[in-house]
Amino acid sequence: MKTFCGRANPTTGAMEWLEEDENYDYHQEIARSRYADMLHDKDRNVKYYQGIRAAVSRVKERGEKAIVLDIGTGTGLLSMMAASAGADFCYAIEVFKPMANAAVKIVEKNGFHDKIKVINKHSTEVTVGPDGDMQCRANILVTELFDTELIGEGALPTYEHAHKYLVQEGCEAVPHRATVYVQLVESKRMWSWNKLFPVHVEVDDGEKIIVSPSEMENCPGVPSVCDIQLNQMPSSDFSILSDVVTMFSVDFSKPVRSASTYYKVQLEPVKSGKAQIVLSWWDIDMDPSGMINCTMAPYWVKSTSAFQWRDHWMQCVYFLPNEEPVLQGEKVYLTACRDEYSVWYKLQKARGEEENKADVHVESPVCRCQAHLLWNRPRFGELNDENRTRQYITSLMKVLKTDSVCLCISDGSLLPLLAHYLGAKQTVCYFFFQFFKANHLEDKIKIIEARPESLTSSHLEDKKISVLVGEPFFTTSLLPWHNLYFWYARTAVTSHLTSNVTVLPRSASLHMMIVEFQDLWRIRSPCGTCEGFDVQTMDDMIKNSLNFRESKEAEPHPLWEYPCKSLSDPQEVLTFDFRKTVPQHCLSTEGSINLLRKGKSHGAVLWMEYHLAADISISTGLMQISNEKGNCEWNPHCKQAVYFFSSVIESEAVSGLSSAVTYAINFNTKTGEIAMDFKL
Ligand code: SAH
Repeated sequence: MKTFCGRANPTTGAMEWLEEDENYDYHQEIARSRYADMLHDKDRNVKYYQGIRAAVSRVKERGEKAIVLDIGTGTGLLSMMAASAGADFCYAIEVFKPMANAAVKIVEKNGFHDKIKVINKHSTEVTVGPDGDMQCRANILVTELFDTELIGEGALPTYEHAHKYLVQEGCEAVPHRATVYVQLVESKRMWSWNKLFPVHVEVDDGEKIIVSPSEMENCPGVPSVCDIQLNQMPSSDFSILSDVVTMFSVDFSKPVRSASTYYKVQLEPVKSGKAQIVLSWWDIDMDPSGMINCTMAPYWVKSTSAFQWRDHWMQCVYFLPNEEPVLQGEKVYLTACRDEYSVWYKLQKARGEEENKADVHVESPVCRCQAHLLWNRPRFGELNDENRTRQYITSLMKVLKTDSVCLCISDGSLLPLLAHYLGAKQTVCYFFFQFFKANHLEDKIKIIEARPESLTSSHLEDKKISVLVGEPFFTTSLLPWHNLYFWYARTAVTSHLTSNVTVLPRSASLHMMIVEFQDLWRIRSPCGTCEGFDVQTMDDMIKNSLNFRESKEAEPHPLWEYPCKSLSDPQEVLTFDFRKTVPQHCLSTEGSINLLRKGKSHGAVLWMEYHLAADISISTGLMQISNEKGNCEWNPHCKQAVYFFSSVIESEAVSGLSSAVTYAINFNTKTGEIAMDFKL
């Protein structure tokens, strides 16, 4: 059996269906999964173990047999904890076949095969009875089905079903309860991920302002959760408007309802300001007393010093449909609406109770302005980056003349508007929606409805392009170099360019640096044993999946969320000259990079820089190395490519004795992909 996987081709920008080995999907799933991260989450593991022990004891004290249902067993970890704690029998349910197989092996290896039955089914397919999967209903329900938003992985319908069909009334549940907390904040930085701010362009005859369509003003955006490592957001980037309040909680030991509903709380702002963002996180109490608590609270809320880094559970940023000025002490109502899988928020001023009641609509948000469909949150942030816009404006001013015919190739870009205001005689571009209308430019900027490869002179009214611009940015790009599609598009339109065409950016370069991660290394690091249980089978499985592709691949990560320090200087490794067409041959380089600082080399980070003008470059990666310790500051709008080394070396870096990493990097011009190899 073959699997077809959709992927954007970086040389054409088009989606293609590639035939992959039947195992491709699950290798991807395992290799990129968060199992390793969960197993490294000591705080979570310890608390689950405590909660499970307490639940088994309570059942035993009542003189009952302890029958455990573990939904989503993964490696079998929680069932093994239960069995060690004295449970009489565990039903370990796992829907994902490769994981269920791994669980069988792990359970066997740890000597629990007579106490734990692994069932490879979705929990809603599990049967109970003498001939069923389970002999009888369980009296202990153990699960770990939560995502950053708590309910996004379907915990509610799974619990609802389990209480109806799989567990006894009055069962013990680990966790016992989850509670969702919120805090209202004002934050220009986070708000810039959701709305386009007016763009000011200084021109000869005054100032032009690019505005967004009015539909965007009150647009509720898209329902997908915005989950981030909130602990990387400095307190100077937001202003707290309310105390932390409990929004809702779910008692997992009682029947759970998954149907859409809403929860409303009254808030008294502690400060006046613009309510824009609801920050949210949850905690779980492993037992009814609340003594065993595992919390995702961010740094300014959490009192404990024992801080656990984790990537499988982070914090949520919710955008209110529109910003609302609030006054200190003046009551407001915050409503959390949820369906089975997601949560969204509304804020209302305290008015008559009746009016407030009538105001609650539980429908999930739908983007009305199109922009939230076109731009994801980091892209909004990038377009709102005034510094970046200024660099494009300065560069465009250098190259545009009154007779310039300008073609813009980039997705959802503001460059056509900038080029128009900065004096291009004619601007054509591939795509842009209501923005032209909102800015009365519908008949000033021409949209071409053909891909670069099929551009004809009639699209250009027989004119030649004298200025070709791009950010470059394409929504289908996963890794930094996929935006080199600009180069392929430039090559495709060559016959429509004047002989002395200006291409902006004129070139790009690929940069690389060796880093030590503070925490991100965990997601690719073997676990060995977890709370005394041997989970090496899982490590081997992840390793096998990572090696599944012949050449190991770099993976995208937004490094502003994942602190690291540089162990080497940043190094330019390849350059791409956009003034020329894409060459037929591959571009390769080999070399070595010195390790200058003491530390663990976890991997290489790679990013692109675009050279807009002689003295203006834009980095999509490193912004600066902020101190002598090597702490890095990364572009906050972009993902960088991370290549994890298969083994970690510890460098001493005494002067003169520095070690080096050798590399070979190959840009395949036929596929647009970069392969790399490192030797430590
Ligand atoms: N319990 C493990 C793994 C948790 S990850 C641990 O704590 O380490 C959640 C697992 O649940 C995933 O492997 C997923 O495939 C599985 N899963 C989610 N919902 C499920 C359901 N309703 N029935 C069976 N498996 C489910």
